[in-house]
Amino acid sequence: MSATETKINPQWEGVTTAPEMPLPQTMKAWVLGDPEEITLVTKEIPRPGRAEALVRIDAVAICATDLEILTYGTPALIEGGAPFNKGFTPGHEYMGTIAALGPGVDEFEVGDRVTVEIHAGCGQCKRCRMGMYTSCHNYGLNYGTQDKGHRANGFTTNGGFAEYAVNNINTMIRVPDHMSDEEATLVVTAGTSMYGLTELGGLVAGESVVVIGPGPIGLLAVAVAKSLGAAPVVLVGTRDNRNQIGRELGADIVINPNSEDVVARIKEITGKGADYVVDCAGTEATVNQAVQMTNRGGRICLAAFPKTAVAFDLGALAVNNIYLYGIRGEGRSATHRAMAFMAEKRFDASLIHTHTFSLEELPTALRYARERIDDAIKVVVSLRQPKPEGDQSDKGVQQ
Ligand SMILES: [Zn+2]
Ligand SMILES: [Zn+2]
Repeated sequence: MSATETKINPQWEGVTTAPEMPLPQTMKAWVLGDPEEITLVTKEIPRPGRAEALVRIDAVAICATDLEILTYGTPALIEGGAPFNKGFTPGHEYMGTIAALGPGVDEFEVGDRVTVEIHAGCGQCKRCRMGMYTSCHNYGLNYGTQDKGHRANGFTTNGGFAEYAVNNINTMIRVPDHMSDEEATLVVTAGTSMYGLTELGGLVAGESVVVIGPGPIGLLAVAVAKSLGAAPVVLVGTRDNRNQIGRELGADIVINPNSEDVVARIKEITGKGADYVVDCAGTEATVNQAVQMTNRGGRICLAAFPKTAVAFDLGALAVNNIYLYGIRGEGRSATHRAMAFMAEKRFDASLIHTHTFSLEELPTALRYARERIDDAIKVVVSLRQPKPEGDQSDKGVQQ
């Protein structure tokens, strides 16, 4: 697109837009009030700053963490506290089209389709300098006199249940033309799975990988492990419909713990136990299974957040020289590597996309995800779909 500098209002000096993508003054956005209270309002379009772009959101997937934030507030952290009644817009798994470029940005053009990862660390702390921006020491410090520049859209800054969001250029990944909007929203989930596996050992060709828990991250961990050459790839899960999708994504063996002794079966399959175990369930039972099924010198990744303290045989880790890794999010540019696999169609992430709703239907979409209505796995909100009949959304409340 032919880019021109336009002044939408005086504060937007230096921002580049294009006539092909005219910007409205305001946008629709869902904001969180009290717990579970989410309202569609009209907000100002956010301005992209240095190293940032304005993304017109085309689709956004719902994550279990969004449901946690709506109910409990955590792990969202706005102005140092709970996110309620602060005009905060959740949503973090989105993709869209670049609508404006902040001052000096030449890495992208207006009109580029991009998908995003969540975290832009502060870029100045020890962890950010190591590439571990999901473990930024200045997490959530982005307001008032302590603005360290940390951004995690949908967690510490406004996210994607809206028509527009601002993203740091490091969080954006180009989407190939052949990839649908809905599939592109799943790249950050695959990126989280990729991060777990690369932190564990990088190339896992010829080594055994067990994934516990067929949620979105677990199912895509199966797909990424298979693409990295792991053999065998084993999925452990209690829900047969999801286990079947795991097979289609590359699981060589599927174990249902309701009908089999998981640890005994893994020992039987692998001889000495699994080389790598990725726990995507985060319960006391699954953490214990992970410890017991890993072979000497093997590695365990904790990719779920247990809600309470978990008792397990810590001594077994020491005696057996087992390494334990906790991951949060999608660090070290793993989302870019996940996109490389998905762009080459090494696996079909869209197998986990089950339902699509419009932006105005977000409360229904959240309910489908929470209650797993109709076997919902990944529920996607599409902003480019026709509006539902009888839509009242233009009567959004002025904030
Ligand atoms: Zn998520
Ligand atoms: Zn940092």
